Amino acid sequence: MNTKIIKILEVPISNVTMKEAVDIVDGFVKSDKMHKVYTPNPEIVMLARNNPKFMEVIKKADLVVPDGIGVVIGSRLQKGDKLPERVPGYDLVQNTMKQAVKEGYKYYFFGSKPGVAEQAAEKMRETYPGIQIVGTRDGYFKLEDEPAIIKDINESGANILLVALGAPKQETWIEEHQHLLPNVRVAIGVGGSLDGMAGIVKRAPLIYQKLGLEWFYRLMKQPSRFVRMLVLPQFLIEVLLYKGDRKK
Ligand code: UDP
Repeated sequence: MNTKIIKILEVPISNVTMKEAVDIVDGFVKSDKMHKVYTPNPEIVMLARNNPKFMEVIKKADLVVPDGIGVVIGSRLQKGDKLPERVPGYDLVQNTMKQAVKEGYKYYFFGSKPGVAEQAAEKMRETYPGIQIVGTRDGYFKLEDEPAIIKDINESGANILLVALGAPKQETWIEEHQHLLPNVRVAIGVGGSLDGMAGIVKRAPLIYQKLGLEWFYRLMKQPSRFVRMLVLPQFLIEVLLYKGDRKK
């Protein structure tokens, strides 16, 4: 990665603000090669910690932004540089969309349940008139469908590919298919963001987001997430106890 990084439990996170991240993505779109952008939260950091293959995939990214407040808090619990702010993947994508028409971005939405990517595209066309969403494809496919998916992405002329297959599937898919996507300049692993854009999963009200309590809002709405969230205290404890290398 070209950005300064802060390692959290070995996972390299780019030390950038939201504004910097948006400018970096813009630079990627205007470059002549594909770049990979991942957006880990504490759950994904822990997943990488327990899955060396996934860790290697994340280490090959060009930009890794802290999706969850937990990752920012993690950086504050350890010695050295601290992450300045949360850079949620959802907001990063929305911020690129605000300048999409002017900068000539062309998006392809790949992932989520059948119909969701199309619905997300429709909503985004309403929100950002003139935006070019040049293709969509759901994320439930067989191995033999992949050549057709690759062909569709390539023929669409998309330069920004949003991949919403959940972690670690989306990051692994991007890494393994990068060489087959010559026109794409940025591939972003966006998790549940297409569900959010389609309006299927509601974002927390702004006040929760500002207070870093989006996770709490989600927990109230979806108590079944509780078990998944138990990873957060475990993550913070591991960061506190971590003795390894925190530099590049
Ligand atoms: N998904 C998919 N294909 C799969 C598995 C998951 O398209 O084989 C989609 C799923 O429908 C959802 C997204 O991937 O839209 C994952 O969302 P989740 O909130 O689990 O991701 P996170 O942001 O937590 O990584």
